[in-house]
Amino acid sequence: MAFETIPKPEDVRASAALTDEIRAHFTWENARAMLAGLPGGKLNIAHEALDAQVAAGHGGAPAMTWLGKDGTRREFTYEDLRAQTARFANVLYAHGLGVGDRLYGLMGREAELYIAALGTLKAGLVFSPLFSAFGPEPIRTRMEIGEAKALVTTASIYKRKVAPWWRDLPSLKAIFIVGDEAPEGCVALGPAMAAASPDFAPVPMDPEDTALIHFTSGTTGKPKGAVHVHGAVAYHAMTGRFALEMAPGRRYWCTADPGWVTGTSYGIIAPLVNRVHMLVDEADFDLDRWYSTLQTEKIEIWYTAPTAIRMMMRAGDAAAAPYDFSALRFLASVGEPLNPEAVVWGKRVFGRPFHDNWWQTETGGIVIANTQAMDIKPGSMGKPLPGQVAGIVERDGDGVRECKEGEIGELALRPGWPSMMRAYLHEQARYDKCFVGGWYLTGDLAMRDADGYFWFVGRADDLIKTSGHLIGPFEVESALIEHEAVAEAGVIGLPDETAGEIVRAYVCLNPGFEPSEELEKSIRGLARRKLGPAVAPREVVFRNTLPKTRSGKIMRRLLKARELGLPEGDISTLESDES
Ligand code: ATP
Ligand code: MG
Repeated sequence: MAFETIPKPEDVRASAALTDEIRAHFTWENARAMLAGLPGGKLNIAHEALDAQVAAGHGGAPAMTWLGKDGTRREFTYEDLRAQTARFANVLYAHGLGVGDRLYGLMGREAELYIAALGTLKAGLVFSPLFSAFGPEPIRTRMEIGEAKALVTTASIYKRKVAPWWRDLPSLKAIFIVGDEAPEGCVALGPAMAAASPDFAPVPMDPEDTALIHFTSGTTGKPKGAVHVHGAVAYHAMTGRFALEMAPGRRYWCTADPGWVTGTSYGIIAPLVNRVHMLVDEADFDLDRWYSTLQTEKIEIWYTAPTAIRMMMRAGDAAAAPYDFSALRFLASVGEPLNPEAVVWGKRVFGRPFHDNWWQTETGGIVIANTQAMDIKPGSMGKPLPGQVAGIVERDGDGVRECKEGEIGELALRPGWPSMMRAYLHEQARYDKCFVGGWYLTGDLAMRDADGYFWFVGRADDLIKTSGHLIGPFEVESALIEHEAVAEAGVIGLPDETAGEIVRAYVCLNPGFEPSEELEKSIRGLARRKLGPAVAPREVVFRNTLPKTRSGKIMRRLLKARELGLPEGDISTLESDES
């Protein structure tokens, strides 16, 4: 069956049988058939995203609307981005860079970052995005690990975070600074781009050639540099369509920071190869700005994260009431478990539920998802996408044992899809350890129900064992946020002589609630009713914020380390951290 003849998700809505049909007929060859490709079996992500669209007659189609923090608005067509990325590629070559060299991107959601990322890929260089909010040390370590040859950043970031040390990094050959001026030793991108030719033929790459290096979020420890290849674009094309409802011309907004894998896979690549019209908002989360952006930009597909959704929920339904969200047709969430409460809240406030989906830096793209083609089970991650085989396993000696329905085990995937990582940079042993008995082990605990839906339980490291029970923090956190006073919760296990571990919860309160003994009792009471006394937290501690990574993940290991007075480990990705 050719890919084009596979029914689209919207044609098979709510029909599990047809979804299975899609799955049954799905092959990676079909997914690759979505691509234009280059002669001789070669391809290039940037060619798929831009040049191929222009060649097919869509150069005038809107590709990116960029909203600046200060209200500036910039519009780019597919042809605009094609030409700009060509200029950028030419600038790289003019500065002695070439195929395989690694270029790091260090800035927020500036339009230039998108041009740099795609221009880098077009030129056959490897792109590695960093969070602009990183301090000098995490930037330096990641650039050292990747033997960075080039960096593109802004003057202000350069001055504060790069200038003091970059001369000690022998691999670094060029620093490009956005704008018309550059400090000594750096290249001003504005004039360099203006002088460069707007034509550049995308370098034909082997599908297995490295395209991107993404550092993991560091939620569980030292971040790993996951290596991804050009061939991954087949996966981005197909998952954009099946899991996120992308189609030409649809107005799409991914709120992820481009320093994180979601911000590139689904903030740059998938939308452009599916020829959507994407919105990029330079600003970070701001309740009114986001609501009004959804309305005025008539966003149809919105991909965001639980931490933002919880902030919106915390502000209450009334804050959303003045806005018109009628353009929205599909809402999705990734990065952390999405509490069932949030799915239902989305339906009430936006008229559409959130579709949770699961993946990780290593998988390069969405693996398990609630799609339009099935009924959402709130609180579940959904089902594996076509072409994916997922299982629940338990390590057993040198191999694994497959778990039964309803049994908790480690989420495992059969390797072989295009966007799967090909290595952890310089960490072969750590990489090899992920593969056991023909499975890729994800490090997450989950279970599968009788209908084939997968339910997230927790990180393998976060699992709590108390009085013979295994408890995933997510289940407890979800129960806690059902309390009217609780906005967010982080749950850990603390050593206890009799129970093994006891459950301790840290909670942030909704506006209008104050910490008190009575409130603590009431929260614990609700948890006991929902979860039973064995699973409910023994202690509830009030906090103003929870420690989170820059991609919005609660760092439970840090809550625990601090509680026990243990070393904090790698906290280079830590974002918010007041107690
Ligand atoms: P590190 O591997 O460095 O500890 P990390 O795993 O947080 O960091 P990412 O690759 O950015 O880094 O995050 C992927 C992880 O996020 C998943 O393994 C899972 O634990 C969590 N996650 C992502 N999406 C979901 C989801 N929909 N439901 C539950 N958990 C999710
Ligand atoms: Mg991880």
